[in-house]
Amino acid sequence: MAQAAKAPRHNRTLTVDCHDEATYSQLLGDTKAFIEFVLAFILSIGFQLTHKSTCDGGGGLTRHSHYARIRLGGLIIWRIQCTRCKAVFTVLPHFVLRYRTMRPDVARNALLATHGGLSLELCAVIGNISSMALYRLICALGQRSLVSVLTRCGLPLPAYLLADEKHSTCLTDKVYLPTIAVAFTESYGEFQRAALAHEPSYQVEGALIDGFDSTTKSMRTLFPGARLGYCLRHALNKLPDKLVGLAAPVRQGLRSKFHALLHRCRQRTSLRVVSLGQRLRRFADHITATVGEEHGERVRNWFKDKKTGWYAVLEDPQMPAMSTVLDQAHNAIDRKLFAMKGFHHPDGSQAAFLTGLAHLYNLIPYQRRAKNAGLCGVEVEGGRVPTSDWMLNLQILISGGYQYAPEPPHH
Ligand SMILES: [Zn+2]
Repeated sequence: MAQAAKAPRHNRTLTVDCHDEATYSQLLGDTKAFIEFVLAFILSIGFQLTHKSTCDGGGGLTRHSHYARIRLGGLIIWRIQCTRCKAVFTVLPHFVLRYRTMRPDVARNALLATHGGLSLELCAVIGNISSMALYRLICALGQRSLVSVLTRCGLPLPAYLLADEKHSTCLTDKVYLPTIAVAFTESYGEFQRAALAHEPSYQVEGALIDGFDSTTKSMRTLFPGARLGYCLRHALNKLPDKLVGLAAPVRQGLRSKFHALLHRCRQRTSLRVVSLGQRLRRFADHITATVGEEHGERVRNWFKDKKTGWYAVLEDPQMPAMSTVLDQAHNAIDRKLFAMKGFHHPDGSQAAFLTGLAHLYNLIPYQRRAKNAGLCGVEVEGGRVPTSDWMLNLQILISGGYQYAPEPPHH
């Protein structure tokens, strides 16, 4: 009850790389050196401080107060304040995690192992922590939205979206959590809110969806101007279901034909929609002629239902046509959700857990032999990360006190 009445406090944490613990304790003895060190660090990672909305950041910074962190062996944490807007920033040295006794080097290994596919239980063994502690850590990372982390890396908001729903059979009623479909529907809305807060004029150009009524409805409500297309991979996979009772090789043959048809339409540079319309009609006729009127009619009706969504994909050359990447993500998510079965605590949720995992996917660099070896997903997409250390980047990017600063123009 008391919690519900509490006003939301702005998190203005700053994780700062202090080299080592000795340097940090030295800095604690000298206010001026401390503030200069913090300012130099912020400059070096190319960020700005999150001042209050009325402040241009032109004021100075003073030491505000310090408090001892009992749980961390009495480590002293300083807070600094903007002399103009009075915003208070908590400076966290890189070797502590916010509200957590787990050390970042322990968290680093456990998170890397989780990301690599090891179960929460085994990851916990590596760092001699409990699997619940690891689960809570991932949920804590997920408190910061994807939009706010990715825009801090200088990535633009996406013009096109892939939306899909995963109906998992992994979770049972015993788990005190919302279903995945609900979590995903919520995540569309959360994405929209975060995106609009970042850029009020933001508009989604198009979204590729699976054709489920619930996804279509939430997309239409949240992004009324967006072009909604149906995933062509889904179409391809659905065709054999429309040919019930036929021998597998016959269904496979028709699927290949359908695949070639869709591929040829996508290759065209003009009149793609007209071409698809003609080809769909001819394909249904071909089915009638080869395997019978009943199948031809069923496929024809299915085409009638879905073709508007497929046309939408072909009308806009920039529109993604397949949600394969999302399917892969779903499979990974499924495994992770299975791993968290039975976990529950007040700050945890499927959404927070999945967002935390998504941060790992975006920030952990690809392995040495991979195509984009050494780079993380954010960098591959053209974004920039504050340092060369992924764990430090994660700590910095989820720190509420930092803001993206556009790079100064090069002369
Ligand atoms: Zn200020």
